[in-house]
Amino acid sequence: MCLMRREVNLNSMITLKARIAFNGDVEKLINAAVAEYKATLPEDKSACPKCGQQAYQVTTITIPIAKAVVKNVPTWKCSNCGDILYGLRLLADIESVIGDATGEIDFNDLLKPN
Ligand SMILES: [Zn+2]
Repeated sequence: MCLMRREVNLNSMITLKARIAFNGDVEKLINAAVAEYKATLPEDKSACPKCGQQAYQVTTITIPIAKAVVKNVPTWKCSNCGDILYGLRLLADIESVIGDATGEIDFNDLLKPN
């Protein structure tokens, strides 16, 4: 219930920002946002909440989002215990971009300008 509300608010925010910065072009804004996200993935050194090791590494995963399966989504994974940190904001952005698309989608294709 809380998650749903959060996503709705996030979408409103994205639309608002798009109107201001990209003349209402939400897709262009999201492409810019995910490109920035990928470029700024930190070399995260915080301790894993599950095993306590400072072992997070940037990697890519395949994950079902909405009605599709998205490959090469950047994320952090603990190299010790395999715990994955999901970028919730990024997942919400991807969901907005792909809409009702089905099948397999490569994250890198979402970064390409149209
Ligand atoms: Zn761990």
